[in-house]
Amino acid sequence: MNPIIPYGKQFISDSDIEAVVKVLKSDFLTQGPENTEFASKLASKCEAAFATVVSNATAALYIAYKALGVGPGDILWTSPNTFVATSNAALLLGAKVKFIDIDINTFNMSIDRLEEELKQAEIYGALPKVIVPVHFAGQSCDMKALWHLSEQYGFRIVEDASHALGGKYNSKPVGNCEYSDICVFSFHPVKIITTGEGGALLTNSAELKNRIDMLTTHGITRDFSLFERNDAEPWFYEQQFLSLNFRLTDIQSSLGNSQLKTLEKNIARRREIAANYKSAFKKLNIKTQSNENISSDESTYSSWHLYVILLSSSQERLALYKFLRENNIYTNVHYPPVFTQPYYKQLQFDQSICPISQDYHSRCLSIPMFYGLSEDEQHKVIDAINKFFIL
Ligand SMILES: *Cc1c(COP(=O)(O)O)cnc(C)c1O
Repeated sequence: MNPIIPYGKQFISDSDIEAVVKVLKSDFLTQGPENTEFASKLASKCEAAFATVVSNATAALYIAYKALGVGPGDILWTSPNTFVATSNAALLLGAKVKFIDIDINTFNMSIDRLEEELKQAEIYGALPKVIVPVHFAGQSCDMKALWHLSEQYGFRIVEDASHALGGKYNSKPVGNCEYSDICVFSFHPVKIITTGEGGALLTNSAELKNRIDMLTTHGITRDFSLFERNDAEPWFYEQQFLSLNFRLTDIQSSLGNSQLKTLEKNIARRREIAANYKSAFKKLNIKTQSNENISSDESTYSSWHLYVILLSSSQERLALYKFLRENNIYTNVHYPPVFTQPYYKQLQFDQSICPISQDYHSRCLSIPMFYGLSEDEQHKVIDAINKFFIL
């Protein structure tokens, strides 16, 4: 039997291992030089002014929303085609969440739908405080269009770019925050690069950077210039608001630093696999994610965290899933619309509001896509899918 080919998998090199071992032998296990370096490398790679690294992207989303003042009485809008963390973090802060349906071509939140909803919300006095575009599978949302809407309707923007490290939008790296307040990345093992668990927040605002740093560590600052009391002894620190410990360790940051060194190679490889899939499936009745609403040239491209194919029916999807599984190719479904989860149902979320995301979810399938996917493995995937359609 062939070895299992998963839909996604981390890539750990010998130099990654060496980098981690070096930190284990050093004086700093947490909050050391690797931490600072990882944050500053992320900021410079993504062309943002500031970055803070944290324990995971869920924590990063929570910190981002809290830094923007999200709390009880506020409303946050996002895409239903995401991991539950995007909206959970807002609910945990006591805010209300509303889901805006996706576009069936881009699999991202539909900007047209969003515009209609904003018009309605303005009439009813229910405009969102924050909108969270999710760059699904690594494909950036149309940030410029969203930014224009934010100027008109006065909401803030947090990008959930958990999938999109290394992707490009409008000739700039995702994470540059030209059209957002804060951008969040995840370093979970299935994502583009990994630190085991890990996340980051990027911003161009010095004020937000300060709050983000304090929220990462109990609402504490050690910066004298920010102190409320002016008679502080040299060992003093101030807790100015309520938070928890969301720090990333130096051990994890060393892995992140090492993984960042091959980010470009990683993305180039993923783009190559995506191109191979696209041409191999050209004649089949399969739809794939398009960026037609943004741009089809080199100025905007996906980081290809996932490669999703859209089948013609849920029956066909189930049959293909089973067929691939028999061939030891393990696929997955991203995502069940968040509001269909039992917890959300119990909160009385309307189950009929996002029909496109429901239809999408009934037919989508994420096939193997990761940095270490070999030529041989790719051919196995392509052959199996072709065989399924020809049989
Ligand atoms: C993975 C993921 C998260 C959560 O990331 P963690 O680092 O696992 O907390 C949030 N949003 C999206 C879209 C994700 O894919």
